[in-house]
Amino acid sequence: MNIPHSSLPRVVIIGGGFAGIALAKKLKNKKVQVVLLDKHNYHTFQPLLYQVATGGLEAGSIAYPIRKVIQEYDDFYFRLTNVQEIDTKNQKVIAEIGELNYDYLVIATGSKTNYFGNKEIERNSMAMKTIPQSLNIRSLILENFEQAVLTKDVSEQNSLINFVLVGGGPTGVELAGALAEMKKAILQKDYPDLDIAKMEINLIQSGDRILNTMSEASSQAAEKFLTSLGVKIWKNVRVTNYDGRTITTNSDLTFDTATVIWTAGVQGALVAGLDGKSLVEKVARIKVNEYSQVHGYQNIFAIGDIASMVSVAYPEGHPMMAQPALQQGEVLGTNLIQLLKKEPLEAFEYNDKGSMATIGRNKAVVDLPKYHFNGVFAWFVWMFVHLFSLIGFKNKAVVFLNWVYNYIRFDREGRLIIRPYKKKSFTTFTSDEV
Ligand SMILES: Cc1cc2nc3c(=O)[nH]c(=O)nc-3n(C[C@H](O)[C@H](O)[C@H](O)COP(=O)(O)OP(=O)(O)OC[C@H]3O[C@@H](n4cnc5c(N)ncnc54)[C@H](O)[C@@H]3O)c2cc1C
Repeated sequence: MNIPHSSLPRVVIIGGGFAGIALAKKLKNKKVQVVLLDKHNYHTFQPLLYQVATGGLEAGSIAYPIRKVIQEYDDFYFRLTNVQEIDTKNQKVIAEIGELNYDYLVIATGSKTNYFGNKEIERNSMAMKTIPQSLNIRSLILENFEQAVLTKDVSEQNSLINFVLVGGGPTGVELAGALAEMKKAILQKDYPDLDIAKMEINLIQSGDRILNTMSEASSQAAEKFLTSLGVKIWKNVRVTNYDGRTITTNSDLTFDTATVIWTAGVQGALVAGLDGKSLVEKVARIKVNEYSQVHGYQNIFAIGDIASMVSVAYPEGHPMMAQPALQQGEVLGTNLIQLLKKEPLEAFEYNDKGSMATIGRNKAVVDLPKYHFNGVFAWFVWMFVHLFSLIGFKNKAVVFLNWVYNYIRFDREGRLIIRPYKKKSFTTFTSDEV
């Protein structure tokens, strides 16, 4: 990988997401050599992917170049590569661009979409974990409309403008709300020759409430908001298959649709090589102790979505959210320095600042540890928190200006098919996420 030799211990970080970047910042100009590896040369602010998918924001405004983060860090290197394996015996990582030895390894690879083993759903539905995937969704939505105006076949037209979102978590809810607003404010003006009232947004949730990781009050408020926007919510319905045309479920209910967006589950984005005993197989997460140290290894750590740190308060590990990832990255940064100085380590304790989701203009739900609220104020809180969490002044400014423009003009000018989306065929299909 062409990394210069250093007399300092080498820390290799796999993944420049929330956890990896928080750790990198902590290791700035400390007595270590750091090599950060990522398959993208940018950090993605995933909470706003749904706005890219619905034309509200440009992709560049929610991404930040990793090299720019570490520009002024000494003995700090970035390499653009997909890491394929960890050789724990010889203390090295094996990537597409070559191999690299480590003294300390930090796995911060995040998570990927979980299709629960159903290859047909994986092949035919759309996922939204990365910027390229969001751009694919944006293209597909608009391509569907362009195709719908061409056909006189009513069932084909209905299928093209029927959007089904599977999974009633924050991603499904936010995307459903954004699509409903697009329908109301934009699509009916852009496509006057289509009967836009026929456009359907169906949100399918296997459990008995949407946003089931939030409070009961927030679930109910979100359901009310979505229903008022015309979204159809199907609770206690489990999708069993999607062949590219029809969704089948565990009941008699079926949906004929050209577009399924799958947000029903996530699993750790594992890299091969760790002992099976270090893994929570069901969710593909890595077992770590309170210092983020991987079970069975002295010098390997895991942080963020990929890590399962079980405690009394979190028997299933921390929620796969930005805050635990950021906080674990920061604490591990401090601990690695302590470790090198042979000083005591700080046990990780998650400071839960709450969670929130937005449903649309003036509509959001917020759960703070002691209070729950929704509506206009919640929406402003949601915007403020997301704006200030973005990396980089330019991104903050561009997103803010876009939001003001979209709010005043009821518009989303990012509705462009720049890179047409082509449905996967059996020959091109690979299960790896981009
Ligand atoms: C659509 C969406 C909306 C979300 N909304 C919210 C929200 O509102 N609030 C919230 O708190 N959380 C939200 N989340 C969850 C949050 O984004 C994640 O919990 C967070 O990104 C986890 O951080 P991480 O550092 O563990 O992983 P990530 O941020 O996913 O970073 C992992 C990095 O590792 C890299 N990588 C992975 N595998 C490899 C490999 N083999 N080789 C090289 N590089 C690799 C990836 O390219 C990526 O840059 C959302 C997630 C999604 C997908």
